[in-house]
Amino acid sequence: MYLQKFEVKNKTALVTGAGKGIGKASAIALAEAGADLIILSRTISDLNAVKREIIKLKRKCKIFECDVSNYEELYKIFNQISKLDILVNNAGTNRPENFSKVKTKDMNYVVDLNIKAAFNVAQLATKVMLKTKKRKALGGSIINMSSQLGKVGAPNRSVYNMTKFGIEGLTKGMAIDLAKNNIRVNSISPGAIATPIFYGGSARANTLSDEENQKKMDKLKNNLAKAVPLKRTGLAEDIAEGALYLASDAGQFVNCHDLVIDAGRTSMFYE
Ligand code: NAP
Repeated sequence: MYLQKFEVKNKTALVTGAGKGIGKASAIALAEAGADLIILSRTISDLNAVKREIIKLKRKCKIFECDVSNYEELYKIFNQISKLDILVNNAGTNRPENFSKVKTKDMNYVVDLNIKAAFNVAQLATKVMLKTKKRKALGGSIINMSSQLGKVGAPNRSVYNMTKFGIEGLTKGMAIDLAKNNIRVNSISPGAIATPIFYGGSARANTLSDEENQKKMDKLKNNLAKAVPLKRTGLAEDIAEGALYLASDAGQFVNCHDLVIDAGRTSMFYE
């Protein structure tokens, strides 16, 4: 009885930033639990690779190559979607820089993606969810991807901090408005998770060879493990498991909540 509650059979889930990292793992977790998927990112080869994995799980998968910061592109895509039950609003990035040196173009880029695009995706997804007449009976789940840096400050992260604190505010406001439709809205705050975001803020900014990347990722995993009380590296799958809980009926009484998945790092006091 309890395990069944984690199933998301007959549900359609949309995941942004699903080509790599946390979005990819969340899409695969939801497919494994029974959902059909709609996945978005800017790199078609990534989307095709994720789609192949989802098809192997015998679930349907639609892919859309899309920059979620472009409202016109988003609008056209959401016009082609007739049913949606779950959203993992995940696409985001980071351009670390000391506050006194942040360039306006970088600040705009990160705010446009992490905040404005997240708002637009959530609003367009909500409109599709509300097209289903039985929405109140069926329920719905929206998961916004925050960060431990939506709770605490960090060096060179003023812009990222601003956007992730904003995501948690958006989550609370949305949750209050959508509760009457039985659409639950929660966020997840990952700790440091070994994904391509560490290649200079995003995989797109990565100019290293495969071998150099592997070395960098191994070193990163080692360093990340040292920094958390549980002494192991956070993986995209750790976050996907939280997303599945919030998306499924296992989390049906969880609303307006931020789920920190960081092995205790955010609560740790450093002397
Ligand atoms: P990632 O490895 O860089 O993957 C990001 C995904 O989003 C990629 O598929 C990327 O593909 C896509 N994406 C980026 N910009 C996009 C855009 N404008 N339009 C559409 N898709 C876009 O990042 P991640 O580590 O999985 O992070 C995912 C989320 O978790 C982000 O919101 C991040 O802030 C948050 N988070 C991550 C960590 C961490 O330690 N990794 C910690 C806390 C929070 P393309 O570049 O091909 O579009």
